[in-house]
Amino acid sequence: MVHLMATTNPPGLAFEDDLQELIRRVNDHPEVRLRLLGEVSSALDVASPASEERRRSLAEKVERWRYQVINHRGGRLSEDQSELTRRLDLLELELDGSRPRPPRSLQAQLATIRERKIEDAALEACLDPRRRIEDVEREAAGLTDATFGERGSTAGRRILLYAPLYLSNHCINHCLYCGFRYSNPMARDQLDLPRVLDELEILGRRDFRHILLVAGEHPAMVSGEYLAGMVRAVSGRHYHVGVEIAPQSTAGYRKLAEAGATSVTLYQETYDPERYAAYHPRGTKAWYDWRVEGPERAADAGIRRLGLGILLGLGDHVEELRALVAHGRYLLDRYPGLKLSLSLPRIHEAPQGFQPPFLIDDDTLVRSYCALRKAFPTANLVLSTRESASLRDRLARVCITQMSAGSSTSPGGYQEAECDVESRQQFPVHDQRTVEEVHARLISDGFRPLWEPEGL
Ligand code: SF4
Repeated sequence: MVHLMATTNPPGLAFEDDLQELIRRVNDHPEVRLRLLGEVSSALDVASPASEERRRSLAEKVERWRYQVINHRGGRLSEDQSELTRRLDLLELELDGSRPRPPRSLQAQLATIRERKIEDAALEACLDPRRRIEDVEREAAGLTDATFGERGSTAGRRILLYAPLYLSNHCINHCLYCGFRYSNPMARDQLDLPRVLDELEILGRRDFRHILLVAGEHPAMVSGEYLAGMVRAVSGRHYHVGVEIAPQSTAGYRKLAEAGATSVTLYQETYDPERYAAYHPRGTKAWYDWRVEGPERAADAGIRRLGLGILLGLGDHVEELRALVAHGRYLLDRYPGLKLSLSLPRIHEAPQGFQPPFLIDDDTLVRSYCALRKAFPTANLVLSTRESASLRDRLARVCITQMSAGSSTSPGGYQEAECDVESRQQFPVHDQRTVEEVHARLISDGFRPLWEPEGL
């Protein structure tokens, strides 16, 4: 008999028998699923429980099964299918032995906000163009100072500097807005360990201690083993390592955590499922649900620093921010001790043939960051070198607590001359200052730049 947590399994419910019936109703050929359920049932038998390894391997299969049900109809599920995904979620959790949590409900919450257009008064107030932007910035700066400043003042406010290290620009996806997309004719490259270490040496000489490993989505080339190997190599040299890669399974995230990854960044790009489908027509990234639940899987795997974001330009920024804020709150509610980072990358130049339908000007970008600060006074707000030097300096004074500097967005880019690199980069870098220049500017503006994420 499969036992589920009392909080999620109504008393008296004969879960296993009931589940078998449910599986038969959902599957035309249920034999394989029923066999797996039998294996799960014996693994959870309290009289002779299976080894942790066995349980986790079954948890991985159940997780895959759940997403197969979800993806089968592009997220439009019948009542039986929804119920099955809920039960598989709980079954996976029990097998996995992770900290108990309520069933996943992110998508239902996002759908409610979207369909009922539920507003968030504080957020809308920051975005309202009738309100003076100077006042909005001042309020956000005050909130930032209160958490990150010295005794609540801007003087000595902490800003973490980090460097992206691009491992690979191979990608099987077709994201219309991205230079790495499969159909874009560009030089492809993937770093092996010696080249990663060469890049790391350059970044280390520039004082970086916090490295974000970035890669396109290519399950065969950028495999879990490859990623874990690179994380292990970098963290083993006493760097703090985050990853910005394809969504992984819970087991995949656990392997990365064991290899030394301490943060996962996974931007949803757009939370609107229809727009999402239009911008991601083919490839693994077309699976909205797999992506949107990625941060939860990372949290279930024990990762406590999560980065969320939207790509400004793809959708209505007010609607997207509402969803992003809801996502952040949902995660904070469910995972005590979670440290959230949020970012708002903005499309400046897209590959030929793609025009972002929503143009976001500088003031709207600033207001959007202020809205995030208002919603999450203690979260890290992150800014890349996509934006110009002057706008980055302005946003640092308002609310940014983590920024990259002197970045390259192509694999091997730190070692090569700029002209070699342009043809392989994901997006152009607009803040072209060196790391020393960015660092010096932060100090002259009264900040305390950090190289390690202490307390951030
Ligand atoms: S956005 Fe990511 S997944 Fe999409 S094409 Fe670019 S690298 Fe690939």
